[in-house]
Amino acid sequence: MTLVDQYEPGDARASSGGETRLFRCAHGSDAEYTAMARRAQTLWHQLEDESGEELLLKCGMVWFAQGEDGWEAASERTFAAQGIPCARLDVAEASTLYPSFRGDDLAFVLLELEGGVLRAERSIRTLAAQAVSQGARILRGRARPEGAAVVLEDSTRLEADVVIWACGPWLPELFPDLVSLRVTQQELLFFDGGPDWRRPGIPAWCDYDLSWYGTADVDAFGVKAATDAEGPPLDADADLPTTTRTEADVRAYMHVRFPALADARLVGTRSCRYEITADTHFIAAPHPAQPSVWVVGGGSGHGFKHGPAMAERIAIAIASGTTLPAEFSLGEQPGSQSLRTASSSRTD
Ligand SMILES: Cc1cc2nc3c(=O)[nH]c(=O)nc-3n(C[C@H](O)[C@H](O)[C@H](O)COP(=O)(O)OP(=O)(O)OC[C@H]3O[C@@H](n4cnc5c(N)ncnc54)[C@H](O)[C@@H]3O)c2cc1C
Repeated sequence: MTLVDQYEPGDARASSGGETRLFRCAHGSDAEYTAMARRAQTLWHQLEDESGEELLLKCGMVWFAQGEDGWEAASERTFAAQGIPCARLDVAEASTLYPSFRGDDLAFVLLELEGGVLRAERSIRTLAAQAVSQGARILRGRARPEGAAVVLEDSTRLEADVVIWACGPWLPELFPDLVSLRVTQQELLFFDGGPDWRRPGIPAWCDYDLSWYGTADVDAFGVKAATDAEGPPLDADADLPTTTRTEADVRAYMHVRFPALADARLVGTRSCRYEITADTHFIAAPHPAQPSVWVVGGGSGHGFKHGPAMAERIAIAIASGTTLPAEFSLGEQPGSQSLRTASSSRTD
């Protein structure tokens, strides 16, 4: 197997770049994505066992329910059907989870007991190292498709039984007639919450209806808080901005939810690219003119955790000559309930 990438594994310019990602099984009433995340959890643990690296921190994952019968209640029903452990907490119970918490606007809180945080860059580097240890070779270079083949900048031509183009935000420029993605700039802010927020076991959190998410202070990078609302367009090859445009909004949300953090010192900011499909479903389908070529991507701000389970499904489909469900097909798809968070409004 040959892996080609223009950057080193874990590079911050890839959509997978950055220190952490939320790991959650909750996908509202969508049973398929719920089960896929659950399968991915097993496969992440398998990678941990094989590599000896701790990649998935099981600190729990909390959902702040603005209403009695929204995304969180639907997720709870899906969990019950699939035997995924969770707990419904009232606001007083939830306040024991965090060093500072306010939930007077909430109907309830859903705790995914086995959710948590993935160490993103470390996971990518570990995965690449494991692939190499099992015989894969990694080539550095920018590639383009030529029929069913792969051509690198130095004119090296690669041919294979199967070629998979999993190119994140770069997919639309490689396959302009097949892939339509909105590539946006998203910000992550890190705050100094002090030692209380570095305790292990503080759950990651998401407010689906208001489109906010974050983590405790993992690995001393600071308490992470970010809006999931779609940021401004950003070309796949443009430099990632180093200044922040969302700090005031993040602080306003902290004031509502984690009051002690509202004025905390900002210790870091990162930018990353979302590559968003119209319906927030992933893309994984064979090229219509080249059946040995697959196009994979459209992580839509929630793809990281699913990586190993998607890869497994794709491998099975290729080996068995089948295709994946229609929601992963190429071309423009109609919009549906967002699998990321409710809001897609811009924050520029
Ligand atoms: C700020 C932010 C927060 C997120 N939060 C979460 C979260 O909490 N949970 C979650 O599950 N997901 C989350 N996501 C989404 C998730 O990280 C992405 O959907 C996922 O990592 C995309 O992975 P990918 O492999 O498809 O793309 P990428 O990581 O972008 O990988 C594509 C690779 O292809 C290479 N490449 C592209 N074109 C070429 C070419 N022509 N030649 C050679 N190499 C090429 C690139 O260099 C890159 O390494 C978040 C994303 C961002 C930006």
